[in-house]
Formats: sequence, structure tokens, C-alpha cells
Amino acid sequence: MKEYGPVPGDACARFAGRPTFLCLPHTTRPQGADVAVLGVPFDAAAGGRTGARFGPGAIRQASMNIRPYYSPSQRIAPFDHVSVIDRGDAPVDPGFMDRTFDYVQAAAGELLASDVVPLCLGGDHVVTLAALRAVAHRHGPVALVLFDAHICCNDEIDGERYGHGTLVRRAADEGIIDPKRSFLLGSRGGTLGPEEAQGARELGLTVVAWDDLAQLGTGMISAAVEAAVGPAYLSYDVDFLDPAFAPGVSEPEVGGPTSMQALALLRACRGLRVVGADVTSVAPEHDGAGITAALAATLAFEIITLVACERQARKEDP
Ligand code: MN
Repeated sequence: MKEYGPVPGDACARFAGRPTFLCLPHTTRPQGADVAVLGVPFDAAAGGRTGARFGPGAIRQASMNIRPYYSPSQRIAPFDHVSVIDRGDAPVDPGFMDRTFDYVQAAAGELLASDVVPLCLGGDHVVTLAALRAVAHRHGPVALVLFDAHICCNDEIDGERYGHGTLVRRAADEGIIDPKRSFLLGSRGGTLGPEEAQGARELGLTVVAWDDLAQLGTGMISAAVEAAVGPAYLSYDVDFLDPAFAPGVSEPEVGGPTSMQALALLRACRGLRVVGADVTSVAPEHDGAGITAALAATLAFEIITLVACERQARKEDP
């Protein structure tokens, strides 16, 4: 195992001790790590139900039930290839979005300056724009791979340009994503109008509605990974799943994937060069028996495993 990995069970039972993500060591000094988990307990920009500010805590608690040592589906012991820390939570200013953007960008930027991949746990989805700014500052415009029931590409909502439903459009405006290498996956449900999806396509993004993705399956994801060549940001809004499997989210949209389908699609991202990632929208007070938090913890673990796979592949074939 590399320098930073989960505390072994004989040192501390997985359900005991200070709740960190996957029982990883908590430190604010990222030097030497490959990936750092960064909580963003902020939900003032949620369009639907609030409560995602408690997401990072619930995900950490749920993660303690995961055995992270070996992934049979990816056939890899992720912590043999990546050193991972829990950086704790970024500073936020409840109710004040602009200042929180700056705080989160700075916290993610500190990690990136040490060549560490930030894995943000939301919080609502606006964390993505702050993290993307930091990632692009380090790597230039990145490919965005977004799993989300929502397209998030409105130009404005009720006159507001910054918020939950506009982040992809703002990221394109700011030149921090490369639209031609970017994919919006899983949209469904009602929108404010046809111009949102049309606008995203005019910008050059590939929009794949859930109805189509359900038919195309993992092959479509593999094609997207190939097309996304270069540094990529993987953003995962848990409302991508059907609320039967993820009820504890801000804006549930029925008719989505099962957890089995969602995991298969995420694992198919193997090969993506993830330089930043997030898992957002878990609102524990709307959850039932912690199932959404458990799912989000598993998704975040799968993202760490993707980074481990990519590092392993690069080592074998530099
Ligand atoms: Mn969403």
C-alpha cells in the first residue's frame, strides 16, 4: 500500500473512530497524495429541496461500511496505486454563493498545486463550477463528463446567471471546459424549454438523454471516454439515478437508472484521465435508511478506483 490509505481494521474497526471517507487519514497537507477527498457542505444554490450541506458528513459515515481494499469488478487493489487523504471540508459561507465559490476554488486549487486530484463531496451542484475553475487553472480547459438528470445549461434562470441550472453554460463561457470533448449524460424530466438542450449542442457538447443512454449502455460511455482524450473532470449528480434508488437528493427525477446500471456506466469510464471529480446533491434528511449516502460513497470509491486504474495503465504503458 502507498503512503496514505485506509486505516487497517486491526488498528481501528471500520465503523469506529473519527468518520473520514473510507477511514482515510485526515490531513490538510496534501503533499505526497494522489487524490484528496474534499467536502463542500453548501446548499444555498439548490433549486429544489435543501439539505445537501449535510451530504459530506452522511457520505463519510456511509463510506465506513465499504471494504475498499480490492475491487473485483475492476480487478485492482486501488490503494496499491494511489495514495488518498481526506482533506476535510472546504470553508463555505452559508447563503453566500460568490464567496463560497472563491473558497472552494482556493481549497481545490491548493490540492491541484501539489498535483493532487480533488474529489469533492457535495453539497449542491454549484461546487462543480468552483472546482472546474481550479482544475482549468492547473490543466487548461478540460473534458467534462457529467452524469445528471439535468442538463444544467440554461443561460439564466429568472435573470440569475449563476446557480444550479446554469453551471455548464457558465463553464463553457469561461472557457474552462472544452465543449467538443464534453458529455452531458442522463437528462430526463421536464425542462424550462427546448433551448436548453439545443443550446448545449450548439456549444458543441454531446447531450445523451437517459432514454437513449439506457439503450446504448456502456458502449456509449467507452466511446465518450475515447473522445474525451486528455484531462477530464468527472461530475456525478446523484439525481442521475432513479429516486427509487437515490431518494435523498435535492431534485428527484423519476424514470432513471438503477444502482446496478449506474455503477456499470461509471465503471465503463475506465481509461478517462480524471484530474478532478465530484459527487453531489445528497440531502440526507430526504434519504431513507441512508441508501443515497451509501450509494454516493460507493460512487466516490469507484471514482478513486478509476484514478487507480488510469495510474496503473500509465505506469505499464507510459
Ligand atoms: Mn441534477
